[in-house]
Amino acid sequence: MKSFDVIIVGSGFSGLSAAYYLQQAGFKVKVLEVSSQSGGRARSDKMDGYTLDRGLHFYHHSTTELKKIININELELKNTYPGYLLRYQNTFNLFTNPVYQTFDSLSTALSQNATFTDKMRLFGLYVKLKTLPYNKLVKENESSTFEYFSKNGFSKKLIDSLFRPMLAANIFDYNLQSSSRFSKIYLKSLFQDHVALPKDGIGKISKTIANKLEPNTISFKTKVKKVVDNGVELMNGEFIESKFVIVATNAIDANGVLHREVLSAECSHVTTLYFSADKAPVSKAVVILNGNESGLVNHVFVPTNLHKEYAPKGKHLIAVNVVKEHDLDDEELEIKCLTELSDWFGLSVMDWKHLKTYYIKYAMPFKPILDEVRFFKKVSDTIYCCGDSLSIGSMETALRSGRETASIVAQELEKNPSTLEKLEFQQ
Ligand SMILES: Cc1cc2nc3c(=O)[nH]c(=O)nc-3n(C[C@H](O)[C@H](O)[C@H](O)COP(=O)(O)OP(=O)(O)OC[C@H]3O[C@@H](n4cnc5c(N)ncnc54)[C@H](O)[C@@H]3O)c2cc1C
Repeated sequence: MKSFDVIIVGSGFSGLSAAYYLQQAGFKVKVLEVSSQSGGRARSDKMDGYTLDRGLHFYHHSTTELKKIININELELKNTYPGYLLRYQNTFNLFTNPVYQTFDSLSTALSQNATFTDKMRLFGLYVKLKTLPYNKLVKENESSTFEYFSKNGFSKKLIDSLFRPMLAANIFDYNLQSSSRFSKIYLKSLFQDHVALPKDGIGKISKTIANKLEPNTISFKTKVKKVVDNGVELMNGEFIESKFVIVATNAIDANGVLHREVLSAECSHVTTLYFSADKAPVSKAVVILNGNESGLVNHVFVPTNLHKEYAPKGKHLIAVNVVKEHDLDDEELEIKCLTELSDWFGLSVMDWKHLKTYYIKYAMPFKPILDEVRFFKKVSDTIYCCGDSLSIGSMETALRSGRETASIVAQELEKNPSTLEKLEFQQ
């Protein structure tokens, strides 16, 4: 039986961040991870020369947590186009983020799906979200996102053709039933900065953080069955002792290892289908949204338009994302998506080669009401939970949650005289 100051269950962003800060403070930490790599939901797979992110993720430049741990230049980031390409009826319109005024803004101004009043209100919303700090946003009146847009005078046409696919692409909520505070926080972050991808895929971020940990901190392919006050029991029956345990998994897995409902398990889903093609369907590195209510495909992105390294030489990688509920099997879903996309891009779509489909059952916590933004939860005197399920789904909140949980656990360890062992361990 080994003994640690802290065992962390899960090596997603929250677990890695907690491990990093606890090790920086000199504690003896072990991270147990069921899969074969770190990064949790934000990891990438390599397949036949392609880099497949587990669902389309972007790094947001305005975030601050990651920069506290790594030098982001190591990621070789490139920015996507600042806005969206909206497929509405049979045309494409560019919606450019007003902060990055370009000639393309003319396309935004002329777009067919918004009335003049909508465009004015959209600009008003942009200015409001850009100037209002986060701590004020989370105190604004709460309602569903749909109610918020309707009450603020946006037309049904704009809500259906822009807000639905845009929020579905970011928080996987096509029905706009999430808390309006939650959606406004997302829109604020979308309006205020550029988003980017690392050259080696989103998984490069967690790998870079994991490299900051002491060697052998993470035990991969190690599934925790049960968390108790003095340690964890593994699936293979082994017991590992520790003074504290931090559960850094999604809410469903946390409730599973804690054997009771500690966190709300409501979540959103997304399916990402990857295709390979000889030619990219568009030339810009822009997220293409489906502004027509019909159809299953919500958004499409071509990572190779940003980093050609996402695919072997001469090939393009295309990520097709579905957010609406469906009951199609793998093959039916693939055919349905390609049929829809042949309307967007022409029949050459039928030559695309399907690579892989990811069904992501727990994409982000679903929050109909955002009453409290918390970054850790105390389950008992020695067990804490962290991760995005406590607040809102993002790499930033997961990293902050890990940091804040590490800080509180470190304070508890410092109070405990038995932590003197820590000093012996360091010598
Ligand atoms: C498709 C998609 C797109 C997204 N896009 C963005 C984006 O653009 N920008 C952004 O900031 N955020 C985005 N997010 C959200 C972001 O990925 C998450 O908020 C963040 O990664 C959550 O990290 P976490 O540490 O809280 O949990 P997780 O990443 O879920 O990590 C939990 C870890 O625990 C492990 N685990 C679970 N059970 C056990 C067990 N019993 N024993 C051992 N290990 C266990 C899991 O394998 C996993 O590695 C996106 C999410 C998805 C799914």
